[in-house]
Amino acid sequence: MKIAVLRETTAGERRVAATPETIKKFISLGATVAVETGAGEGASISDADYAAVGATVAPRAQTIADSDILLGVQGPSPDSLAGAKSGAWLVAGLNPFGERARVDAYAAMGLEALAMEFMPRITRAQSMDILSSQANLAGYKAVIESANAYGRAFPMMMTAAGTVNAAKCFVMGVGVAGLQAIATARRMGAQVSATDVRSATREQILSLGAKPIFVESVAGIEGEGAGGYATEMSDEYKAAQAELVSSHIAKQDIVITTALIPGRPAPRLISDAQIASMRAGSVIFDLAAESGGNVEGSVPGKTVVKHGVKIIGAQNVPSTLAADTSALFSRNLYNFLSAFWDKEAGKPVLDEEIGTAIRLTQGGKVINERLLAS
Ligand code: NAD
Repeated sequence: MKIAVLRETTAGERRVAATPETIKKFISLGATVAVETGAGEGASISDADYAAVGATVAPRAQTIADSDILLGVQGPSPDSLAGAKSGAWLVAGLNPFGERARVDAYAAMGLEALAMEFMPRITRAQSMDILSSQANLAGYKAVIESANAYGRAFPMMMTAAGTVNAAKCFVMGVGVAGLQAIATARRMGAQVSATDVRSATREQILSLGAKPIFVESVAGIEGEGAGGYATEMSDEYKAAQAELVSSHIAKQDIVITTALIPGRPAPRLISDAQIASMRAGSVIFDLAAESGGNVEGSVPGKTVVKHGVKIIGAQNVPSTLAADTSALFSRNLYNFLSAFWDKEAGKPVLDEEIGTAIRLTQGGKVINERLLAS
């Protein structure tokens, strides 16, 4: 069983899918590991660090050749996988909805593509959940970046020269990233409020010491759908939410938006008129910018100033904390593969529930029902 660790081919991607720590563990399971030259550079891991734990370090073609499992952070371009063994597993964050043509190409190459972001949100798979491990750090970084762009302080300060008011921070979308954003902004001394369409988040917001802001006027709303994810809301709900947000947002200094709906464009939560109602110098961080954006006019990877408000469009935020995010991502991959390791076969053998959820391609075809239904 040979495992290959690929150097990322996506521009700006600094993370790596295996660290010396996880490679050591794969080797103790009986695998051999080949790491592509320079794969760990962006995460401050040298080729020598990999060699020191027993990995072979080699150029891509040699790394891929004869490998049974290819590990990546993002999906590699199919061209760069020429020479991969038919039937080899490609395990990475494959962005199946956004990169459908690639998935088709992986199928045509005979690869078995496993999308880590399709891992079910179930208790036993928590340690394998790349969405959570990466979103957690992204939520933290969104607050740090916003504080950096904000021309005022976060905490209230009483000084001999007078008082500095605490920043008011509003978090929209209280999933994994939003919860960490609330906790980080609170630690930094901001006055924090938050909203979500899932009513279960109200308790979570309160438990972090923030104020919940919820639409109360629409009867029977519950934005929680399958797997604990948000569903698309009714027009009536959207109108009530826009009204509530309008009155609240005008008083905010920092807004962090994190709202996503799997397989669909991110919901639009902040309009240009709402941006105009904010005080000049305020900051909006749109963590959903790459999925269509929660904020009108946000651009992934850019800071746009509108009506005096800085709108930061996120672009691969986890990559900006590559050492930590790589360590967590790598453990997610190790936890996944080792949980299914069949000692006799000397390789992982997936069970029905998780295999069906994450397997995109097999036998030359796209077979994933969630992807085929989209
Ligand atoms: P996500 O990234 O898909 O979305 C972020 C947040 O945006 C969600 O809380 C969602 O409800 C919210 N949202 C969507 N539309 C919105 C709108 N119009 N207005 C306001 N908010 C909106 O979410 P996530 O962080 O991946 O978490 C999704 C769910 O999975 C949560 O219930 C979370 O607790 C759960 N979860 C479970 C496990 C597990 O048990 N293994 C692990 C992680 C997360």
